[in-house]
Amino acid sequence: MTDREIEEVYQIVKDYHEKYLSKHGVKLPKLNDVDGNYVKDALVLVYLARFYPSTVSVMKDELTEFIRKFYPKINDVQQARHLGAQKGWFISAGGRDNVHVKKSGEYRLITLERPYPHFKGHRIEATGNWDNIKQQYGNRCATCGSEEGKKNIHYPNTITKLQKAHIDSSKPLAEGNIIPQCQKCNRAYRDFWVFDERGRVRGIAKPAIIKKCSEKVKRGIYKILYNEFKGQDPNEW
Ligand SMILES: [Zn+2]
Repeated sequence: MTDREIEEVYQIVKDYHEKYLSKHGVKLPKLNDVDGNYVKDALVLVYLARFYPSTVSVMKDELTEFIRKFYPKINDVQQARHLGAQKGWFISAGGRDNVHVKKSGEYRLITLERPYPHFKGHRIEATGNWDNIKQQYGNRCATCGSEEGKKNIHYPNTITKLQKAHIDSSKPLAEGNIIPQCQKCNRAYRDFWVFDERGRVRGIAKPAIIKKCSEKVKRGIYKILYNEFKGQDPNEW
């Protein structure tokens, strides 16, 4: 394939991805890396999609030969398998029980209009769209369950307004690090905690919260840290 052909097929893949796959959390690999080299995942997709919407089965050897034009040292092209089950592209890998591709070592792009069956990619961290995120939580605060626009569960005089809250406040408030919280929960937690995606606390984000602990808990924490840092003086770090 010429560079021109690669770019053309990539554009087709990109268009389908935008229309059908992106919403399921399937990620489109970039065509080129920062140095301008082709990205292997993109090459494999392009090769499998080159006659799209007609697709053909491709043997792994053939795929490897193609990738070797750009990466002469590569021995084993695993990209097709990974792009399928793990990354959500509907690429079937041949072998037992496969209805699309029979022979082992054979791959075929089935469609660009649906993700790989049972792909679990549409996780909360896969989307950056605030409305989508709220929808995934049923428009409720991840922590207390109060519903947007309705009375707050714990503060009946307050109408719930969902805010973007950090999962981990030590990281930026960006895609993959956002849960909806009502204004009450968001304020109360004040970036002290690390949450899981269900709004449950799973860690401490700000050491200062330790000051609010009881003497007993403080001693417990001190003991853990003392052992972990082998009694080092923190002033000498
Ligand atoms: Zn809440």
